[in-house]
Amino acid sequence: MRFIVSEDKLIATRNQSEGSMPISKISSIPQPPINPHFPFNQELQLLLTGKQLLLDDLPFPLEEIQAHYENGYSTYRKGIEYVGKKLVCSRCGNKEGRFFASFPCSRCGERDCRYCRKCIMMGRISECAPLIGWNGPPPKMELPEQVLTWNSHLSEGQAEASNKVKEDISQNQELLVWAVCGAGKTEVLFHGIEAALIAHKRVCIATPRTDVVLELSPRLQSSFPNISIASLYGGSEDRHLFAPLTIATTHQLLRFYQAFDTIILDEVDAFPYTVDDSLKFAAKQARKPTSAMIYLTATPNEKWQRECRNGKRAFITIPARFHRHALPVPEFRWCGNWQKQLSKNKLPNNIVQWIKIRLQAHKQALVFFPHIPYMEKALPILQTLHPEIQAVHASDPHRKEKVQKMRSIEIPILLTTTILERGVTFSNIDVAVIGSEEEIFTESALVQMAGRAGRSAEYPTGTVTFFHYGKTNAMLRAKKQIQTMNLDAFKQGLIDK
Ligand SMILES: [Zn+2]
Ligand SMILES: [Zn+2]
Repeated sequence: MRFIVSEDKLIATRNQSEGSMPISKISSIPQPPINPHFPFNQELQLLLTGKQLLLDDLPFPLEEIQAHYENGYSTYRKGIEYVGKKLVCSRCGNKEGRFFASFPCSRCGERDCRYCRKCIMMGRISECAPLIGWNGPPPKMELPEQVLTWNSHLSEGQAEASNKVKEDISQNQELLVWAVCGAGKTEVLFHGIEAALIAHKRVCIATPRTDVVLELSPRLQSSFPNISIASLYGGSEDRHLFAPLTIATTHQLLRFYQAFDTIILDEVDAFPYTVDDSLKFAAKQARKPTSAMIYLTATPNEKWQRECRNGKRAFITIPARFHRHALPVPEFRWCGNWQKQLSKNKLPNNIVQWIKIRLQAHKQALVFFPHIPYMEKALPILQTLHPEIQAVHASDPHRKEKVQKMRSIEIPILLTTTILERGVTFSNIDVAVIGSEEEIFTESALVQMAGRAGRSAEYPTGTVTFFHYGKTNAMLRAKKQIQTMNLDAFKQGLIDK
């Protein structure tokens, strides 16, 4: 598609008429004023409010979109902007030349139509592609009489954080909620979400992982039973649903533009959010200019921890679990050159002993390995101790099944990569990390893995052992972080010993 500017309007054309060009070549895009007499399409309003979509995403003909634009109700933005000679993707913020490619484009007829490869999974955005948004009135949000029906007890630590979250959401602030693994961070959000919805604000909870979207959606729906909730992840069906409450993977935020009054960003320290700048860009663009941002994590990175200490970042901690027991502190055990042992199909003796003790005591355990090949070497060795010992990794087709079997105590010991470092709860386990000095085991990963032990009120304790061939800073910092949280919790009277 090509555009011409005529009489202060952008006119979309399908042919190569004179003076027409791809949208990114047009210097500035006029926005016609709202015509109050125009009978706008309410479905389009629901679909476009707070969004930035490609024509392909819209089940409406171009003529209808164009009519809404000419009457001031929808907007066109350049999918790709030129900043000097450099290209910038308006959707994902990509500026790196290597992430742009070009193709002979049948839509605009240019031989070299450039497009962004970085966000291509959300549909190709090219020099001739407009991002379409809404400029008319927002849809009305009808509220039920009772927004939140959840009436559970909050621990003392949770209650304090909950108040702060509520206050900061109301005042459009930024806040980091630093809650230890198993503190119950989701419950801390409920009153803040309720207050936002009552004020007719739009709320989004974004998380890096689809699993979490799938787990949170029914939980929130049962607490906010009369609120419509959009659950968004790759392949989900709610893509076009306008809802006061949205639960989405961070990738899905790429389709939003100035949509939310509150964004709650879960697991800000987790992959892929930490390594993909386009997701940070997307989270920023999805916020309204005046809005609240609540970050949740059990393990902020070093930079954020420093900012907290130096008073440069607003934060609140929940240093204790709801069951009032201290977090298990990892114990370090030197195990020599475990890689060399594995290459001879052996495991260090103290690791084997550790496993034997758990098997004899019928205590389940998670044993973390830094990489799949090591784990696969170790599995047959350990299966000679017990045939039901299993191993799991990210692309294991039986992953869900194995996790389920671990839950139902059919597997005594589960070997795993960092895939189970977070987001899973088994009620009564010990944790071992093999080769905890490996680079993949960052401070945050180590804290998360340790955080799998002692989570349930029934079994609030568990041992955590780091088997290593030389202590690293990450190991020392992880231990320190856990001890500091326990000390804070004790001082605040949130744990009993
Ligand atoms: Zn093109
Ligand atoms: Zn892009």
